[in-house]
Parts: sequence; C-alpha cells; structure tokens
Amino acid sequence: MRKIDADVIKNSKPFNKPDLIVYLLAAVLIFALFLCCKPRAEGQIGKMSISRSGETIFSYDFTSGAMYADKEQVSVSESGNTLLVTVYTGENGYNAVQIDKAARSFFVKDANCSARKDCVHSPDVTKGGQSAVCVPHELVFAAEGGSPDRPVVG
Ligand SMILES: [Zn+2]
Repeated sequence: MRKIDADVIKNSKPFNKPDLIVYLLAAVLIFALFLCCKPRAEGQIGKMSISRSGETIFSYDFTSGAMYADKEQVSVSESGNTLLVTVYTGENGYNAVQIDKAARSFFVKDANCSARKDCVHSPDVTKGGQSAVCVPHELVFAAEGGSPDRPVVG
C-alpha cells in the first residue's frame, strides 16, 4: 500500500485538468447561488407580521392585501396607503406601528414600553428578512420576503 501511495503523490501535478473543472464548477455554483438567493433575501417585503411571545397577532400581505388582526389585542386604522396598527399589551401598554402599503415598509411609531423606547428608535423595516423588536412588550415586528416560492429553511 505504501508503494501505491507514493506513486500517486509522485504522479499528481498541482491543478491537473479534472481538479480545475471541479473548482470551476464550484465557482459557477457559488455565483449562481449568490445571484438567485441574494435578491430574495434582501428584496422588498412581501408580508409583515407582529407576534407576541411567539404568537402571531397581526399580519399584512402587501401583495394580496390580506390582513389578519387579533381584535382583542390589535386595532387597525387605515387612511390612504397608510395602516396604523396599535397593539395593546395589557396594563395600558401599547405599540403603534405605521405601515406604508405603497412603499412596502413599516416602523414602530410610538410605544410606552420603556424610558428608552428602543423599538421606536429602531430603523424603518424596508426589506424582507429584517425585523424590529420590542423586548419589554415581547413583540416582534417581522418582514418576510416577497417571493412566494422562497424555500423555508429551519
Ligand atoms: Zn419597545
């Protein structure tokens, strides 16, 4: 066995043809993955949802216009392309989220969660995969990508 191993090492050259093809295929594959997955991950928002302690209490689909709201915890007012969603978190707690239907974006407009109000100061959510959170109120404001055939991972 030792002799055969020595022969293989002796006869192999760096970057012989089959190796180059494998490297080239890998490079093409990585490039293709980059091309098809990157815009989906960072594309416009298809759907936004608000969940509290892991339970979805509001969702809005920008493409179909379908809306779901848990009426015991959420109230929605609409004017033009703006949706103002107010989430009541108990003991007079609330978060107000403003959704721009035309721009496919949203942000936390107001809240009384804490003195710092981190959620109000978090940047606008404009792309699928981004999210904002309100830790004191256990709320997650999440944006999903727009592609309906997006593979679900995890
Ligand atoms: Zn907050």
